[in-house]
Amino acid sequence: MADGTLPRVSSYPPSSPAQPTTLRQRLAGLRGPAVPPRPLDARALAALAANPGCGRRTLLDGAGVDKTVLASALGSPAAFGQSQFAIVRGNSFEAKVKGDGGAELLRLVYEHLGAGAEPPGRGALVPDLAAAGPEGRAARTALALREATAAGTWTLLDHPMLALEVAGSPAYLEPDAVVVHPDGRWTVVEIKSFPMIDGSADAAKVGAAARQAAVYVLALEKTARKLTGAEVGHTVLLVCPKDFSNLPTASAVDVRRERSVTLRQLERLTRVDELAAALPEGLSFDPERTAEELAEAVAAVDASYAPECLAACELAFHCRERARAAGEVTSLGRSVRGELGALTTVEAALAAAASGAGPEGDPTAEALHHAARLRAEALRSAEVLRSAEEGAACPC
Ligand code: SF4
Repeated sequence: MADGTLPRVSSYPPSSPAQPTTLRQRLAGLRGPAVPPRPLDARALAALAANPGCGRRTLLDGAGVDKTVLASALGSPAAFGQSQFAIVRGNSFEAKVKGDGGAELLRLVYEHLGAGAEPPGRGALVPDLAAAGPEGRAARTALALREATAAGTWTLLDHPMLALEVAGSPAYLEPDAVVVHPDGRWTVVEIKSFPMIDGSADAAKVGAAARQAAVYVLALEKTARKLTGAEVGHTVLLVCPKDFSNLPTASAVDVRRERSVTLRQLERLTRVDELAAALPEGLSFDPERTAEELAEAVAAVDASYAPECLAACELAFHCRERARAAGEVTSLGRSVRGELGALTTVEAALAAAASGAGPEGDPTAEALHHAARLRAEALRSAEVLRSAEEGAACPC
């Protein structure tokens, strides 16, 4: 989405008929009575896939718990998001890109990814995708994709609705646009409001956009599998303002790596029903409960905090505080966690460094002890050297 905030959200996973009634009721109980489910979106899915070991996030997202509200109720509100000004600017840029029947957007797609096809003229189709509810809109989008592929003409789908099953729940996703090429290829278009200066944009922002687009590609592939002649492009089009102007420019972004990583990680996610079944009866994340009750409920679900959570999850401050309080080495970063093997707490790592004792069969403790000895020797040598230099410089 051009505003760079959470993309439009339209899924109500817990109320989907795909879930058995008991699971729906259980998830509704976890949210709290009269709390509507928070829809999932592509950015949340990309972040979920970036931390597949976190059962806490999987459960909360799968149950439709609003993590922003939960974080505030816990006393650790999330501190990321976009200013209203940036949102308005992004929306106005997206409207400009899609203006005039999407002529400029189609031109950019043709220029960057349209090799071999006739240029899109005034005859490009822009089907009406309006329908009731996310399921209706997803069905309408699937029909429009089928018709456009069969027609073999340039077609622009503005804010189509795509369905993707995540951790046992269907999520409905809304990309900025999907373009159908005359040869049956489908291209995801992401419109962002960060600038592309001299043909390149901030690598971190492009990476986040690529991960988000990869989720759309996966959702589109599900529909394309049922259609003859349809093919989902693994190169997406990123449209941004050119330099410091409001004019659109674009870049083709290969999302094959992001797609395969996201697919693998989404498949590994623990199913929501298994996570919910492991929780005690009566546990709830209802924001009406006290902060202590909520903290207890949150603590009942295993988490896997890493500093990367700070940029991706609303509960990051709460989880960081708990991870630090418990002395978990994950709070120091995934690379540190990986290097420390079976030593999962700072206390255990310090003890291993001092004594060399650690979990049986894990060489990390001995390596740490060796490193600690080398460090102590280096410090001693430096101290001796400094004393000698001070002695030599002394005039008395
Ligand atoms: S902040 Fe907490 S809940 Fe969110 S992904 Fe990280 S560990 Fe999981």
